Amino acid sequence: MALEQLITTPVEDLDTPCLLLDLDTLEKNVEYMAGYVAERGVALRPHVKTHKSPVFARKQMAAGAIGVCCQKVGEAEVMVAGGIEDILVSNEVVGRAKIARLAGLARHARIAVVVDNLENVEALGQAARDAGVTLDVLIEVDIGQSRCGVPPGEPAVALGKKVVQTQGLALRGLQGYHGALQHCSGFAERKRQYQVALVDLKRTKELFDSSGLPTEVISGGGTGTYRFDVESGLMTEIQPGSYVVMDRHYRSIGGPVGEAYEDFECALFVLATVMSIPGEARVVTDAGLKVLSTDSGMPAVVGLEGAEYQAAGDEHGKILLAPEGPQLRLGDKVRLLPSHCDTTINLHDTYYGVRAERVEVIWPVAARGRSQ
Ligand SMILES: *Cc1c(COP(=O)(O)O)cnc(C)c1O
Repeated sequence: MALEQLITTPVEDLDTPCLLLDLDTLEKNVEYMAGYVAERGVALRPHVKTHKSPVFARKQMAAGAIGVCCQKVGEAEVMVAGGIEDILVSNEVVGRAKIARLAGLARHARIAVVVDNLENVEALGQAARDAGVTLDVLIEVDIGQSRCGVPPGEPAVALGKKVVQTQGLALRGLQGYHGALQHCSGFAERKRQYQVALVDLKRTKELFDSSGLPTEVISGGGTGTYRFDVESGLMTEIQPGSYVVMDRHYRSIGGPVGEAYEDFECALFVLATVMSIPGEARVVTDAGLKVLSTDSGMPAVVGLEGAEYQAAGDEHGKILLAPEGPQLRLGDKVRLLPSHCDTTINLHDTYYGVRAERVEVIWPVAARGRSQ
């Protein structure tokens, strides 16, 4: 059966396991973030590594985003093919083939990339000149995650000067992104650590200014820090990704009041079927590791008080039911809330977009597996 035949089908009748997307919630999240950022005079450049779909990206653009971030050249290719015209690859791009693809893409869209290495700057410049394009460049500064990025201060300035001297490249400013900080538990603690990370970025920006290097773009931030990012007075654009659909882990990092991070709601679920009932208060579903990532913990079982999901292999997931709570029968459908949206989405080919409990749209996870 062609997938489109399933449009208008009630969710309960969908075969499983499959990836459900609550469209009302998705749209609400997109609007809320866009409004929050616009009101405070900062630009929004959402990260599409979460959803991997140009359809979502266009919704984000329609709500006011100035462009998107991609993590991989392959994602950027899918976005450009899907009509997105302004992309920051917020990651280092290394290796002849990838760099040539990036430069080629700049014939079709405005492309920026981050750098943290001199040789890489030379290679990017050469590829841009060969393709007859200009690549925008941000210097990535390590603001405490100890992953990519040059150290703050003088090393960033030295690399910035190199970019300015390189034909084919146009220095635009800085990127400072701290991934681990996004997930830091406790609102006050996250804010405290953010202020610490910001000191290095601010100092580097000031050095850029006094060295005559451009700082028209200071880019960074994500779902966990977006409030601090827009208040920082430093970031000109922010890069949140997960907020579009959220996940169990992000909901648990703590808000300004309470333990739940409630700024955005969960829009993404895996629908599973009870395929075996081996014992009391224990059922087995058809949703295992191949449809649900567990790198950030177990998914939550939606709407079943006290029930807990337990990984049971590639194709199976157990649900331990609270003895006094609701029970399940063979063939029942269960909704699971993924613990980590990005890695779960990348396991699926298809989104089933749902409104009022019926399938409204079926969209491909277009950049699924585009990890090169
Ligand atoms: C993942 C990522 C983001 C978005 O982070 P979320 O936590 O999903 O909002 C932003 N910028 C960079 C560089 C990233 O790698």
